[in-house]
Amino acid sequence: MTDSPETAADGATPTPATTASASSVATIAAATSIDLRIPRTMQALVKARPEAGAELREVAVPHPGPGEILIRLEAVSLCGTDLHIYRWDPWAQGRLGKYLPRTFGHEMAGRVVAHGPGTGAVPLGTRVAAETHLVDWTCYQCRTGREHVCANLKILGVDADGAFAEYMVLPERNAWPSEGLSPEIAAIQEPMGNAVFATFVEDITTATVAVLGCGPIGLMAVAICRFAGASRVFATDVMPHRREMAARMGADCVLDGASDVVAEIRRETGGTGVDVVLEMSGAEQAIHQAFEMTTNGGRVSLLGLPSRPVTLDLNDAIIFRGVRVYGITGRELWRTWYKTAALLREGLNVAPIITDRLPLSRYEEAFDLVAQGVAGKVVLLPQEG
Ligand SMILES: [Zn+2]
Ligand SMILES: [Zn+2]
Repeated sequence: MTDSPETAADGATPTPATTASASSVATIAAATSIDLRIPRTMQALVKARPEAGAELREVAVPHPGPGEILIRLEAVSLCGTDLHIYRWDPWAQGRLGKYLPRTFGHEMAGRVVAHGPGTGAVPLGTRVAAETHLVDWTCYQCRTGREHVCANLKILGVDADGAFAEYMVLPERNAWPSEGLSPEIAAIQEPMGNAVFATFVEDITTATVAVLGCGPIGLMAVAICRFAGASRVFATDVMPHRREMAARMGADCVLDGASDVVAEIRRETGGTGVDVVLEMSGAEQAIHQAFEMTTNGGRVSLLGLPSRPVTLDLNDAIIFRGVRVYGITGRELWRTWYKTAALLREGLNVAPIITDRLPLSRYEEAFDLVAQGVAGKVVLLPQEG
């Protein structure tokens, strides 16, 4: 789609590359009245120095290069990766140390306001979200339908300037048209995609499922399992307010992750264990619980990132019991996005997971909320004060 001629009339013909349906085309047309004047400078939250924190700076509005579009940002949600960068932990130091200053943030929604050379498939005014994996489209993985594990993967807001700003550039091929969704829901499609991918890597209809770890992605997974016809959904977390949220999102049985959840879930399933475990916490104890509560021949999706190597008895945990294990990273391009959009369109309500909305200037509060683990999704609104 990046080869589409630059001369394509903006807002005229939606191309096959977009998801525009008849109704969203009308919305796009209506959106052409938005103000497309672009200033020279903007506010951006920049990781400027190799230390904890970040700075709100006046920086130049970027120009979209070949294949890129310029987006006026409407909503950007905070993610664990952003917190690593903000705190400047060892991972962030190793990954970003050489590339400062960097505007970070990646879970975004905004409207297309300018086309770089060779773009135009996504019309001006279209609300888009971003696939945040910037892939080369040419490596072995990309050419065999596994772009999400591209050999030369770059991440928006880590390896390229990101979304905690009033404007950003994005390869047009990474834009996901999201007309019909509010900016904040459009923005959280990206982390929701993690949950969708982890959940649907195999069928879950009528399965018993346990979701371990009820941060925002775990909570989304609970809602997805309930919506998509799991027969029983267990959820565990060590924090009481997250357990309350999990119950609100539709978990049938919510357990304290610090208790003997394996015994409890085995009891609740008549000794069988669950068909599916979605491990969203990365906690070593939860990873052990995941394998112990999975029924023989069941499936474990691992998404949470442990902070150090974990030792497992492969014989008892996986091999002799015929357990299938999936490493889940990112989302599949674009299979996961279609599934996510379908769930939202059909009425899955993830709005309760968004607990806080703040202007970009109140980023310190936003990061405090995420760091304390008390919030669900926290969203920054770059166009507000
Ligand atoms: Zn993220
Ligand atoms: Zn690739």
